[in-house]
Amino acid sequence: MTGPRIEIDLEKIRDNTRCLVERLKPCGISVTGVTKAVCGHPSIAMAMLDGGAIGLADARITNVRRMRDAGVTCPILMIRTPMLSQVEQIVETCDASCNTESGVITALAAEARRKGTSHEIILMVEMGDEREGIMPEDLADAALIVTRTPQALLKGIGANFSCLTNTAPAPEAMADLSSLAHEVEERCGPFVETISGGSSANLAWAFDKGTGGRVNNLRIGEAILLGTDPISGRPISGLHTDAFTLLAEVIETKIKSKPVPLKLSDPALSALSLIPGHHWTTRSILAIGLQDTDPTGLTFPATVTFSGATSDHIVVETTNCPLRIGSEISLQMNYSALVRAMATPDVSKVLLRNRPLTKRATTRSNGQLPEFL
Ligand SMILES: *Cc1c(COP(=O)(O)O)cnc(C)c1O
Repeated sequence: MTGPRIEIDLEKIRDNTRCLVERLKPCGISVTGVTKAVCGHPSIAMAMLDGGAIGLADARITNVRRMRDAGVTCPILMIRTPMLSQVEQIVETCDASCNTESGVITALAAEARRKGTSHEIILMVEMGDEREGIMPEDLADAALIVTRTPQALLKGIGANFSCLTNTAPAPEAMADLSSLAHEVEERCGPFVETISGGSSANLAWAFDKGTGGRVNNLRIGEAILLGTDPISGRPISGLHTDAFTLLAEVIETKIKSKPVPLKLSDPALSALSLIPGHHWTTRSILAIGLQDTDPTGLTFPATVTFSGATSDHIVVETTNCPLRIGSEISLQMNYSALVRAMATPDVSKVLLRNRPLTKRATTRSNGQLPEFL
């Protein structure tokens, strides 16, 4: 295998999902696996389902289509408010979508009617994250409109925390979400089946509290994939933090003098400089850059220090052991590094501990099984 690549240990993804599913079960909370950070990679999606996720969620139609094309048949939720221009594809590929605009809901319902089907709606409430959401005082009215729109099924309500603001959700906000579910039911009658309380950022709240109130679902991406808490960036106990490893090849290693600025603007500062003339370091270049990942989101081996990056290069310094040309170094990625690396075709994706595709996934549309089965 050559070139920059991500090695993906699917067993660790299964393990992480299983661990979260087991820990949330006593709180009455199910897990929806969020695949947007991995561009809807079908094998990763399958690993989440194997680990006990009840369904999947993604923010982009291209990712959803990729999963459907690979034979993923589970419920898929569109977690970004659908574009009016994409309602046709949303109804075709997603069972449900998160919504905040009545015009979009009407268009989804009209499209569902045209297709002779129906579409489930999760109404998103603004609970302080300052991203998408209906204001809490307007929620019951919005829910009433959905229940009166044929082919639009009110599946539940949901909220987002810590996406834009990066602060942990307050327990009071979570309690408010539960009360809103009651309020909607008083107003509209039908049981609100799903109360989707947020993302990986809500795990600390869920583990701490022991019961989710009426919150019965979380949409989890980062914790499953990276084993980290998005707010603190710290590992969550019991989860693997190394399911993904980025490998980059060393293309240059030289002892170089660090340029000392020839003219410091202030002569007094120049006089103070402790560096006499040159400062020698061992510098290496890795064949990967800003186009491939977020270099500031990488964790380097202990002997390697990041010094800078351009579109196609990452420059590092080493102390005692110089990096050999052609050797590879292993890097751990944070969320933004992972998202970018998964999205570029120049970084190949290598699956470790993959399971054979399920019969469901490999059955051809003509009903015949592939020859290798
Ligand atoms: C991205 C996203 C999630 C998942 O967030 P993680 O931090 O990866 O768990 C959940 N809900 C919505 C609406 C999102 O956009």
